[in-house]
Amino acid sequence: PEHKTSNFLRAIIERDLEQGSHASRRWAGTPGDGAHHAAGDPDPAKIRTRFPPEPNGYLHVGHAKSICLNFGLARDYGGVCHMRFDDTNPEKEEKEYVDSILDAVQWLGFGWDSSFGGKTESHLYYASDYFDFMYRAAEALVQAGLAYVDEQTPEQMRANRGDFTTPGTDSPFRSRTPAENLARFREMRDGQHADGAMVLRAKIDMASPNINLRDPAIYRIRRATHHNTGDRWCIYPMYTFAHPIEDALENITHSICTLEFEDQRPFYDWLLDKLAELRLLARPLPRQYEFARLNLTYVITSKRKLAQLVNDGHVSGWDDPRMPTIVGLRRRGYTPESIQLFAERIGVTKADSWIDYSTLEIALRDDLESKAHRGMAVLDPVKLVLTNWDEVMGAGHLEPCALPALPHVAEGQTPPPAREFTIGREVWIEREDFAEVPPKGYKRLFPGNKVRLKGGFVVECTGCEKDAEGRVTAVLATVVPDTKSGTPGADAVKVKAAITWVGVADGVAAEVRLYDRLFSDAHPDAGGRDFKASLNLDSCRVITAYVEPSLAQAAPDQKFQFERHGYFVADRQDHAPGRPVFNRITGLKDSWGK
Ligand code: ATP
Ligand code: MG
Ligand code: MG
Repeated sequence: PEHKTSNFLRAIIERDLEQGSHASRRWAGTPGDGAHHAAGDPDPAKIRTRFPPEPNGYLHVGHAKSICLNFGLARDYGGVCHMRFDDTNPEKEEKEYVDSILDAVQWLGFGWDSSFGGKTESHLYYASDYFDFMYRAAEALVQAGLAYVDEQTPEQMRANRGDFTTPGTDSPFRSRTPAENLARFREMRDGQHADGAMVLRAKIDMASPNINLRDPAIYRIRRATHHNTGDRWCIYPMYTFAHPIEDALENITHSICTLEFEDQRPFYDWLLDKLAELRLLARPLPRQYEFARLNLTYVITSKRKLAQLVNDGHVSGWDDPRMPTIVGLRRRGYTPESIQLFAERIGVTKADSWIDYSTLEIALRDDLESKAHRGMAVLDPVKLVLTNWDEVMGAGHLEPCALPALPHVAEGQTPPPAREFTIGREVWIEREDFAEVPPKGYKRLFPGNKVRLKGGFVVECTGCEKDAEGRVTAVLATVVPDTKSGTPGADAVKVKAAITWVGVADGVAAEVRLYDRLFSDAHPDAGGRDFKASLNLDSCRVITAYVEPSLAQAAPDQKFQFERHGYFVADRQDHAPGRPVFNRITGLKDSWGK
């Protein structure tokens, strides 16, 4: 494991752990409110972070950064990371997304169980479980004169909010008494008003330079069935109201979010402070910290735009191996370790920047280099005929060959069994490994030149056969006797190149999907550009290749290094023994644009 580099969040946590300033409070609620720590935090010295997705889509590589960050900090500092669904928006949320998100987090290598005092606790939460408490908190604000029901139209509200240069204008409903507001708010809850007819707003400051403090809406009327609470509610809390409360009820110490929430922090603090004054929450309160979201070149990470790619058929689904979703990366062959490594390397900062896509590919190579078994595959096959084979080796003879599955094995580790295959009169080679007229410096097959068939024999090229169009249909060579790899004297005949190959007798035809970047523009949606205009039309090329027997026996999801070609994975969905299907994860080195 790589050394963990420090960052501003680590510095804050280390300071808090030293000073005990985060040490969590005892929550003043009642168990019926649904919060977990009704009896107080069993371990107040621990730091608590959370990963709070809205279950309205599939997670993407940006979320992976947030998952690795939040779960990683909790792991590294002996804390707990809560898995919480921020499910306060009933229209867009579905059980299907809940399941896929839980699956993605676990696949990435994280979990939400923690052990304390010999007891294991689950830290899986749903914000919708706190609706009762949130409603009570809203009533308390109303009674304290800190919230009011506004019956202006959305247009009026927008116009009266002002902008960066103009202060807002008070709503005519702002001076209602707490009693009037409470009655109205209860009517809202009881379904006596139409959707959108009125909202509950916090009463803060319509002239605040921070527009988020100009009496933000905190509850709205919305008749929609919720995936968890069904039709119990027809009013729902706004995200900005719900989120701080969720954090406080769960005793979150460090609430880490992306930079666009920086302007919301004053409201986050205002709300929690008021609820603590009203004795609904106890201090110390959670603190929000912002970091820069992940921007990855050649990738879009907006759920809405990703949905468009799926719905318009530009990709085969959310798990298309070209998608930056976690299910897509997984199907492409990315490993959890490579994504964790990527997240660690990109670090966390407070300034937005772009991370080069190759950073992700390099992390994959660094993870698989020592793990992925090697194998030979011929992606652009042409037949090589060893014309003297029958005389030298015997008609129909197949000579067994073997190569190690891993070139290096760590000390004390047992090497995996060698790959076994055979060589006979005909083998598949790459078309580019033969040149009738060799370019300068060419060391592979051309008439009169000798090369080694890797793990097999030295062969000497004698010519080729062509069809009417002049295309090479077979390369001809003779096998040089007594040169089989690994036998005494095999190196007596010197060659300048060894080429990869697959026997015609035991090679297996495989579907190979050569994936490339989905966009040809490094910033496909920058500046409001139409991202579909830069779709790379060559991002998936499907070919038939020949693979050695060990590859044909792969289990779905098994990763390999195809010698000289790069890293490939047996497709999780479509690969089956007897019908091999491989996805290219990435080449051996960065060759984009070359
Ligand atoms: P989208 O904007 O694509 O709909 P979202 O940000 O609304 O995504 P959430 O489900 O609210 O998605 O996100 C869950 C968590 O993941 C949040 O804490 C959010 O800050 C974080 N997150 C989302 N996108 C990124 C990103 N690109 N980089 C880092 N963290 C991210
Ligand atoms: Mg969101
Ligand atoms: Mg977002």
